Amino acid sequence: MREQPLCVHCARSGRVQLATVVDHADGNAMNNERSNLQPLCASCHASKTAREDGGFGNPRR
Ligand SMILES: [Zn+2]
Repeated sequence: MREQPLCVHCARSGRVQLATVVDHADGNAMNNERSNLQPLCASCHASKTAREDGGFGNPRR
């Protein structure tokens, strides 16, 4: 977060958004390798989590 304070997903879309969470790129919370950690803003993290988990409270049908 100190080195990369901006959301990487927003940056890819050409937007500048302060990151508020650190996400595990491979979804493995035990993997704390630097290369696996990426700063995300709250909205990008929410959409990523929803994609990977099927969404909290929104089970796949
Ligand atoms: Zn973002």
